[in-house]
Amino acid sequence: MKTKIVKIENENLLDKALIEAATILKDGGLVVFPTETVYGLGANALNSKAVQSIFEAKGRPQDNPLIIHVANKNIDFLVSEITSFAKKLMDKFWPGPLTLIMKKSDIVPNVTSAGLETVGIRMPSNLIARQLIESAGVPIAAPSANLSGKPSPTTLESCVEDLKGRVDFIIGGEMSKVGLESTIVDCTVDPPCVLRPGGITLEMLKTVDERVYIDSAILNNMNQNEKPRAPGMKYRHYAPNVPMKIISGDLDNIVEYINKMCQEYRNNSIKVGIIATEETKNSYSYGIIKSLGTRKDLNTVSYNLFNTLRSFNNEDVDLILGESFLEEGIGIAIMNRLKKAAGYDIIKV
Ligand code: AMP
Ligand code: MG
Repeated sequence: MKTKIVKIENENLLDKALIEAATILKDGGLVVFPTETVYGLGANALNSKAVQSIFEAKGRPQDNPLIIHVANKNIDFLVSEITSFAKKLMDKFWPGPLTLIMKKSDIVPNVTSAGLETVGIRMPSNLIARQLIESAGVPIAAPSANLSGKPSPTTLESCVEDLKGRVDFIIGGEMSKVGLESTIVDCTVDPPCVLRPGGITLEMLKTVDERVYIDSAILNNMNQNEKPRAPGMKYRHYAPNVPMKIISGDLDNIVEYINKMCQEYRNNSIKVGIIATEETKNSYSYGIIKSLGTRKDLNTVSYNLFNTLRSFNNEDVDLILGESFLEEGIGIAIMNRLKKAAGYDIIKV
């Protein structure tokens, strides 16, 4: 398949590429587009055949449902019920990095919801994304625009690397501002439950209903026999091409432990990549060291996370060591992605 690639500068919503891409979406094609979380791989959410081709392009397991992206808050036609909690969340956090799980209407095809009676819906804040959806005139099902299992793409270049030749159109914009996938909240249960942590933190959600809690499977590795509340929870995700370990504990201990490991690796000619921070990057003297930014601003860390993970695929390393972060605020989402990238290989020091 020939893929057309257009970068839109300065969120120019009059760019004719947007109209061309919107027409492709309406007609059942696949379009990659920027959002504030990560880049999305979109298709008309109401067209089963188009949605099916998303799974094929990504190599995504069929039982992993897709999030429907909308351009405005008129979602009555997609759901059978909007609870008062969901309504409050929409008012407060849409547009933005928050996906709400609600009971679906009959119009949503089974392939989009992966056979579930519920559907995830999100209104992105990215203007190119919204203009594209608005012009297409249909809701857009869109998972992250990466090959299944790889780190999510936050730049045009990452999407091209994974999906060129597999989709009709790739629209580029700026690097995704949040850098992590949306927070997912299940609004069909009482009390409401966070199924995936993201840029909208638990503290922010608690301002709407203080009973909101995080599903325990997010903080710990899931037992293989457990049935996940969000199907995506059980899959290996975000994995770099080489094994990765997270070193967790007090920062001083982490640095000391990584240096000790590096000494052994050096003696055995094992090449190491280190995911560090501004505070620690000068404390290491072996390996390829990359900083995610300062620990004082975890939004920068989340912004840089996936791009840094991906960039190690172009480095000559045999394994990656990553520092842990405090699991509070957006740190919960950052650690969730790091743990998955490492396949839950965590060393406590
Ligand atoms: P992705 O689009 O790859 O970022 O992943 C979307 C994730 O949203 C999936 O992995 C699911 O876990 C979750 N999701 C989407 N729809 C539903 C739903 N109806 N119920 C529970 N989780 C959902
Ligand atoms: Mg994904």
